[in-house]
Amino acid sequence: MAPQYKDYCELQTASPPIPISSGPGGNNNAHALYCPNPDCSCIVIKAGVAVKTPTDVSITLPPYITSPTSPSAAAAGSLHPPFYWKLTDMMQFENIGFTKPVEHSTPTTSISSSNLTLNNSDAPQQFQFRYLSCADCDVGPLGYHHGPPTGQNPAEQVGLGAFGAGVGGQMEKEFLIAADRVRYKCGA
Ligand SMILES: [Zn+2]
Repeated sequence: MAPQYKDYCELQTASPPIPISSGPGGNNNAHALYCPNPDCSCIVIKAGVAVKTPTDVSITLPPYITSPTSPSAAAAGSLHPPFYWKLTDMMQFENIGFTKPVEHSTPTTSISSSNLTLNNSDAPQQFQFRYLSCADCDVGPLGYHHGPPTGQNPAEQVGLGAFGAGVGGQMEKEFLIAADRVRYKCGA
């Protein structure tokens, strides 16, 4: 059977049902993830590499543009996807594009203000964000990436038991692809 490319909704409504995830914990992507642009054949992530992860509703994705040349054709894909496909290493992508970094503040801080060794403990944490787009045709954003809060470069945390024990060490790098902004390659 020739491979078919299905979007998130088509997988949900397929008969018989097509599982979207598989693997040992049932949380890996069952299909390779492709650029959502029907005119583009760029693979983003191979099957089985990404992990299904809940949507952080405090983060809103900008509206998705299906074609850079016709922005009016926007709008597939929600601002809060049903879930994300997560990678923790950029090298796990087959192809991906990044925007310039943008600042994003979290509404609350998880740092105790009594811990005087931390800078800016009363201020919202600033995360560096980059939106992810197709490396070939530039449609997007398909998802986002955030690293550690700015100003928490481990090299500067001399007094904090850096490299793991400090706050910065818990800030895992995450690369998140919206489940409803990619196509799924089904069949052989
Ligand atoms: Zn593309």
